Amino acid sequence: MSDCIFCKIAAGEIPSTCLYEDDTVFAFRDINPQAPVHFLVIPKEHIASMNDVNAENAAVAAHCLEVIGGIAEKEGLTGGYRVISNCGPDAGQTVPHLHFHVLGGKPLGEKII
Ligand code: 5GP
Ligand code: ZN
Repeated sequence: MSDCIFCKIAAGEIPSTCLYEDDTVFAFRDINPQAPVHFLVIPKEHIASMNDVNAENAAVAAHCLEVIGGIAEKEGLTGGYRVISNCGPDAGQTVPHLHFHVLGGKPLGEKII
């Protein structure tokens, strides 16, 4: 999608600190980190949110999850980490391109669930 900021980051048109990239997935540091380690994992293909994961793109969405453990290990998240995907306005999704927040590097404290 031409006006999507995360499509542009995945395409290298907007700079980011890339932590991992392959044919279908891109991971980069969040510009406004909420923990000592905070990165985002996105599909290169534009999928607007979790609501838009379907039989055709589920493998790409699942691949985002598949790569998280390896990146977390490289980032030194030996104590664990939290994965969050905000979907829609009630969850506070601000960028309408599916993304998984990965947060860690300290005890994360208060939990919603
Ligand atoms: P959401 O609120 O949609 O769940 O998360 C969007 C995230 O994207 C936020 O944590 C925000 O800091 C991050 N973000 C927004 N724009 C940029 C950007 O241009 N570069 C990077 N690296 N992160 C961004
Ligand atoms: Zn996009």
